[in-house]
Amino acid sequence: METILVLTHADETGAALTKASLEAVTAGKELSARLNASLAIGILAVDSAAAASSVASTGPRLLTVSGEAFAQPRYATDAAALEALCRAANATIILAPASSRFARVAAGVAHRLGGFIDTHITAIGGTETVEATRWFYRQRVEAVLTRDARPWFLLLDPGTHAAFAGQPAPAQIEQVAVQLPAPRTTVNGLRAPAQGAQTIRPDAKLLFVAGAGWTKKQPDGQIHTSEAGELILSFLQHSGASLGSSKSLVDQGGEGEPILPFLTHMNQIGQTGATPRHAKGPSTCCHGEETQAVGWRFIASRRAISLDPNCGWTRGKADVVYIADAFQVMAKVNAQLEATKS
Ligand SMILES: Cc1cc2nc3c(=O)[nH]c(=O)nc-3n(C[C@H](O)[C@H](O)[C@H](O)COP(=O)(O)OP(=O)(O)OC[C@H]3O[C@@H](n4cnc5c(N)ncnc54)[C@H](O)[C@@H]3O)c2cc1C
Repeated sequence: METILVLTHADETGAALTKASLEAVTAGKELSARLNASLAIGILAVDSAAAASSVASTGPRLLTVSGEAFAQPRYATDAAALEALCRAANATIILAPASSRFARVAAGVAHRLGGFIDTHITAIGGTETVEATRWFYRQRVEAVLTRDARPWFLLLDPGTHAAFAGQPAPAQIEQVAVQLPAPRTTVNGLRAPAQGAQTIRPDAKLLFVAGAGWTKKQPDGQIHTSEAGELILSFLQHSGASLGSSKSLVDQGGEGEPILPFLTHMNQIGQTGATPRHAKGPSTCCHGEETQAVGWRFIASRRAISLDPNCGWTRGKADVVYIADAFQVMAKVNAQLEATKS
């Protein structure tokens, strides 16, 4: 009989669970119901009691680790906390969100417990045994994994499960004591991009992808890079979309060509970039090459705006293709968004 533990952590408020953590709770709930196995939720937070009440209605055992030491992600303290939670739960299957905080420590914790870990899990199936699904070779081959070894850690890709959304309920928590190592790292503060300058938003419904066409000569024979930048930033500001880029566009900086200064390789979507998960993904001024389109693998609804009627998108890679000038289209879209807001 399996014992399932879902590891979760708080967001920057220190008291509310992150969306990816709540997704892992859903996965744990579904798995425990299917296997008829016991479920525990482990919570890492400054104020675990508040975080615990948001998942108490699932009725699991609630194991918590609390305190100022866990206000910031730090390998030594986070690994010690997760190890203590896993030992207290005596779990055989441990689910955790692949947040940057947990992805950093999960393999180390699995090793401390003599367990195994698999990452980038997108689905968990099986009624008799646990079957974990993940993609290989840049999301082209899907595999289903089973293992006899326990404890087995499964790091879940964010966006693959619905976030648990139960009513807050009184929580009966078990506070787990953690033997913390002498700290070698102190966090002095945070430096983050100015509000609005952050363009990568994994939780956004929309992924707006910009291609090299934005910085190419336009029908008037001129390039309009600064206008392109204003149109894109204005759309991001109004829509809250995340910003992706083609490889060609982000590569241009290194080649001395016109660039959009707010784009980096972190924005790149595709075979050698990211394959994010968003509900919708319009692509603008991209050609729709296979190496680029594969980055849209998990975008539910794909649209493209290109001047080229023979672009890759028109060959079945996008659900809807607009053969149109993206400068004109986005100017109109932005005007409508502004009108709706005012
Ligand atoms: C091994 C390998 C890995 C790669 N990995 C990636 C990857 O991860 N991601 C990636 O993106 N690419 C990747 N590439 C590169 C990819 O194959 C393409 O070269 C690249 O994606 C092309 O970028 P683009 O569509 O932005 O630019 P272009 O091919 O230059 O296309 C620009 C498009 O913009 C259109 N356009 C211009 N002006 C307008 C306008 N006003 N309105 C509307 N449309 C307009 C043009 O008609 C044109 O279709 C990879 C290549 C290789 C060989």
